Amino acid sequence: MLNQTVLALGKKRSTIREIFEYGNRRAAEVGRENIFDFSLGNPNVPAPDAVRRALLELVGQDPVAVHGYTSAQGAPACRKAIADNLNARFGTQYTGDQLYLTAGAAASISICFKALTASPADEFIVFAPYFPEYVVFIEQGAGAKCVLVPPQPADFQIDFAALEARLSANTKGVVINSPNNPSGAVYSEQTIDRLAALLTRKSEEYGHPIYLISDEPYREIVYDGREAPFIARSYPHTLVCYSYSKSLSLPGERIGYVLVPDVPGFDDLYAAVCGAGRVLGYVCAPSMFQQVVARCAGETADLSVYAENRKLLFEGLTGMGYACVKPEGAFYLFPQTLEPDDRAFCERAKKYDLLLVPGTDFGAPGHMRISYCVQTETIRRALPLFEKLAAEYR
Ligand code: PLP
Repeated sequence: MLNQTVLALGKKRSTIREIFEYGNRRAAEVGRENIFDFSLGNPNVPAPDAVRRALLELVGQDPVAVHGYTSAQGAPACRKAIADNLNARFGTQYTGDQLYLTAGAAASISICFKALTASPADEFIVFAPYFPEYVVFIEQGAGAKCVLVPPQPADFQIDFAALEARLSANTKGVVINSPNNPSGAVYSEQTIDRLAALLTRKSEEYGHPIYLISDEPYREIVYDGREAPFIARSYPHTLVCYSYSKSLSLPGERIGYVLVPDVPGFDDLYAAVCGAGRVLGYVCAPSMFQQVVARCAGETADLSVYAENRKLLFEGLTGMGYACVKPEGAFYLFPQTLEPDDRAFCERAKKYDLLLVPGTDFGAPGHMRISYCVQTETIRRALPLFEKLAAEYR
């Protein structure tokens, strides 16, 4: 007899995977260039040249040192380089001792849920629309409860009344993801301050800290000259989960970190993060890419194509009558579908080889996610197809 929970998880393909497989089948029939796959959040811009140079340098060095295990929390040089970069950008004073290097944000988040869960009654609050894996990491990974806050479709910002109604003595943490996948919403400094004030008041009321788990893989992808606020500065009990998957375009290399807050009880909190990494079998973050990050912590890929794609797609679709909140960050558009049943709508879109992900998968029915980390030309060629699809509903 196998573990039935994980067996069920392994057997059930995610919608995005289903769409991916469907896209491959269609590509074999009609050619890859005729498939408009907007389903994946796989960056389409190359990693910066600094990454290539770092790799070339490392290839010439002692392979035993380059490829060997590092300490579980990560190589000191890499943690120090990340801390220095954070300090230079955000005026913080990290030393590297607060960092625990991981295999990307997915590992960082699952480690945090595991580290913080003390009892099956513990709850983590998640705002819809959300990254679907949160539910798996909280419920199956950590054995805690996931409490959902419904979406606020007018702007996809925080519905504070709905949040407050869900906070309880069992709340262990609140998960935020700004810039957001799938809505593109970015929380302002004022929103973060309001959230921090509410969580501080509730932590005092319940007599224990409510942690903020801040999932930030899109931190650097923000438009119109804005910057995403550095959330850990506003609320001390924040665990930052970061990844280089999007900023350095290295999603397959699996490198990121947890930034553990230097609050009272830090030693235990950091040790619990290390322990969670151990339970989950992470051993250490990929060694070679720790060394790449040590050399490239201040770099980003050329992210400008996302701004161009956002403009083209947002203006094109809203011009055709699709209703959509303008994304302020990340590389997703999250318009309303033209019929309430988002799955039926996305099925119909396949007729034009437009591959879209139903909002239901992110806890926001009646929407579709369009991932625009694709060639700009793909968007240009897809727009007339979105128009034909819209025409069916007029
Ligand atoms: N969190 C969010 C919101 C994401 O969109 C993703 C990936 O797309 C992840 C976490 C996981 O990222 P990583 O590749 O760093 O594990």
